[in-house]
Amino acid sequence: MYRSIPMEADWTQAPELLEGAMSLQLTPEKCDLDYWIKAVAQGTWHGLVNGHALSDVIPSYLFEAGPLRSAVVAEFAFRAIAEELATRAISYLVANAPDIPTMEFFSTQLLDEARHARAFRNHLLELGVEEENLVATIEEAAGDKRDTILRPLEAFGLNVMRDQRDFIGGVIVLTVLVEGVLAPSGALSERKWRPLDPAGAGIAHGANIDELRHLTVGSSIVRRHLIKRPEEKARLLSLISEGNQLWHKLPALDMLFEREVLFQQGLEAHAAVVGDYELVPGRRLVETTVEERLAITQEWSREVQSSRMAFMGLE
Ligand code: FE
Ligand code: FE
Repeated sequence: MYRSIPMEADWTQAPELLEGAMSLQLTPEKCDLDYWIKAVAQGTWHGLVNGHALSDVIPSYLFEAGPLRSAVVAEFAFRAIAEELATRAISYLVANAPDIPTMEFFSTQLLDEARHARAFRNHLLELGVEEENLVATIEEAAGDKRDTILRPLEAFGLNVMRDQRDFIGGVIVLTVLVEGVLAPSGALSERKWRPLDPAGAGIAHGANIDELRHLTVGSSIVRRHLIKRPEEKARLLSLISEGNQLWHKLPALDMLFEREVLFQQGLEAHAAVVGDYELVPGRRLVETTVEERLAITQEWSREVQSSRMAFMGLE
C-alpha cells in the first residue's frame, strides 16, 4: 500500500519534540481533518499496539514491586489523568472556534489527547495492573496530584475557555501554559524510559509527535491573531503572567522531584540494563542525578518557551 506520511508525523523521521517545536511551522489549514486522517490516524499510529510499536516490549523487572515500577506507575497514572482533563477542556475550544480550520484542528487535538489518556492508562494494564483495580491504582498513585496540581490548572483554563468563551485566551492557556510548560518533561520521559521501559518510551514518543503538532499549530493561531489584532498583546501577556503565577503556587516541582527520586533508585538498581545509553549526547543516563535531570528539563523549558513566545509575537 502506498502511503505518504509527512516528515513531522513519521514515527522514525519526525524531529525531536523540542527541536521541532523551535523549527517547524504548521498551520490549522495545513493540519486539517484530512491531513490528520492520512498523516496521523493512518500514518503516525499505523501498526501501533497501545500507542507503541509491537517490538517495544515491557521488561520482566518492571513487573516486580520496587522503585522503578513505582516511578512508571506514578508518572503514567498522572499523565493519564492530565490527558483526560485536557481532552474534556478542549471541547470548549472546538465549541468556540471562530472558523472551520480551527474547529477541525481542535477536534483532532481533542482525539489526540483522548488517545494519549488511553495509552497512558492502558500502559498500567500492560504492566500487570488488573482491569478492576485500574481506577483505584490511578487514584492511589496520582489522585492527590490531580487535586493539588491539575484541578487548579483546570479551573483556570475552564474559566477562560468555558465561562468567558475566550477562544484565543484558551489557546494561550493550552499552548503556552499547559503544553509549553509540560513538553520538556514529555521529552525527558521518552529519553529516560527508552532503555528501561521501551513500551512506555514508545507511548511517550507517540505523544511527543502529536505534541509537536499541538504546539506549532497553537502558536500559529496565536501569532495570526496578534498580527490581526495587535491591541490584544497586553491582555494575552497578562493572562500568561497570571498563569505563570498559578504554576508557581502549585506543587509541580515537588511532584517532578519525587518522580525523579524514585526513578533514580530504579536506575541504580538496573544500571546494567541501561549500560552506556546516553540521556543527552555525551552524558550517560546512569551518571545523571535527580537534580541534573530536573535542570535539563528547566533549561529546555526556557529555550522552547522563549523561542515560541517570540514566534507568536509575545516577547
Ligand atoms: Fe497529550
Ligand atoms: Fe497535546
